[in-house]
Amino acid sequence: MEKLYKSTRGHQKPLDFYTSILQGIADDGGLLVPDFPFEKKDLNALLSLNYVDLATEVIKAFVPEDAVEDIRKACQGAYDTGLFKEGVVPVEKVGNTFVTELFQGPTAAFKDLALSLLPRFMTLSLKKKGEEREVMILAATSGDTGKAALEGFKDVEGTCIKVFYPIDGVSAIQKRQMVTTTGKNVEVIGIEGNFDDAQTAVKKAFASEELKDLCDQHHVFLSSANSINIGRLIPQIVYYFHSYSVLVNRGEIKLGDQVNFTVPSGNFGDCLAGWIAKNMGLPVNKFIVASNKNNILTDFFKTGVYDTHREFYKTNAPAMDILVSSNLERLVWFMVDGNSEKVDQFYKSLSDEGVYRVDEETLARIQKEFVAGCQSEEQVLENIKDCYDKTHYLLDTHTAVGYGVYNEYVKETGDKTPNVLLATASPYKFPESVYEALTEKKTDVFTAIDALNEMTNVEIPYPLKGLKERETLHEGVIAKDHILSFIGERIKEF
Ligand SMILES: *Cc1c(COP(=O)(O)O)cnc(C)c1O
Repeated sequence: MEKLYKSTRGHQKPLDFYTSILQGIADDGGLLVPDFPFEKKDLNALLSLNYVDLATEVIKAFVPEDAVEDIRKACQGAYDTGLFKEGVVPVEKVGNTFVTELFQGPTAAFKDLALSLLPRFMTLSLKKKGEEREVMILAATSGDTGKAALEGFKDVEGTCIKVFYPIDGVSAIQKRQMVTTTGKNVEVIGIEGNFDDAQTAVKKAFASEELKDLCDQHHVFLSSANSINIGRLIPQIVYYFHSYSVLVNRGEIKLGDQVNFTVPSGNFGDCLAGWIAKNMGLPVNKFIVASNKNNILTDFFKTGVYDTHREFYKTNAPAMDILVSSNLERLVWFMVDGNSEKVDQFYKSLSDEGVYRVDEETLARIQKEFVAGCQSEEQVLENIKDCYDKTHYLLDTHTAVGYGVYNEYVKETGDKTPNVLLATASPYKFPESVYEALTEKKTDVFTAIDALNEMTNVEIPYPLKGLKERETLHEGVIAKDHILSFIGERIKEF
């Protein structure tokens, strides 16, 4: 059986894996989803696998049968060449929860798990399709995707990458990380606007006939490094199985026991990957969806209404400052049994009126598996302090959102199911806030890094060392309305 991917909105001919990776988003504006049933995994057989073998085993379920050895090589290149800490994804016991550290990679954020693999999928797909055009990768970022994508794609043959970030919407460290990126095929552009402006413009670029014509003339095509690309989603399924295996192997749980996962969420790709793992046989009780003050997801999971008529806040957990959460469209598609007419209606309503509502039955299905909560900026700081005082474990601001939402959930429900909290970034990526949380004082980024290191002895991740001294290589800033014409100009340079 060939594994094909179709659009959530139903108007695109199903595509094979390679074409899906290259194309990134469906032609009709929808997102690509598997048009085949999820393969059930034998959990027992996964327990003894190292990360590369586990990743190969899980990803195998989504690629052509003859691609398995290529996938293994890609996983080795991503996870077994010293970019990640030994073991790739450490799991720690912290108070009443387990913490899966997804930030031990080349940019100190969880995006690394997928973005160190996506470029390898991309070159494999270019080769398999005999593609002779260059691919221009477009990425909108609220901070972490940008740097992880830049590191993943820099100097990868046949590709170039343009990253758009909101100039006032990313942390000082994230910005420093991006604008100091080396590599001859990378470009980083500041946007006068917020993350949604950047993400919407990039989605428009993919749908633009004018840009398509330009691309044809100049022998180039566009693709995406955002989590709309299934090549982002699939690698994220792996660490859910990995976390579970670690807990079983350590005797913390028995094989078959259920666990909860608490997931700091923005574009919802991380959490959706967990839900796919569940559908591949992972015993999960609840997914606890954690949001910051931008709590549109919390409201959706509580009411079934997705309403973008609200203020956008810049918070101390900026990677989750999002109003239009792309991957939710995939979840909704699954929850209406792949009824793309319905999804099409919802998203037409979202684009015309800024709001949609799922029916009662769909909401009930969603609520069986997901609960949601949110935390204010003050709570984020309190959570960091609380966790550090009790356990000496240092949370970053995003993981602290999850920590608070999980604790509230336990208080409300008394649920005793073991919990895995996904730690999505190193505390050193948001050092001013973490420093403020512990000391109630404010200071600048680089002083905060050194002070935190001295106070806590928590190691500074290698990618963040020496950041202060690195040269700024990218200074361009454009208005949000100029993103499309900017992309056009760059295409013409081919
Ligand atoms: C991207 C990101 C998130 C949100 O993940 P989604 O997959 O977009 O829901 C949370 N925390 C950090 C640190 C991130 O970089």
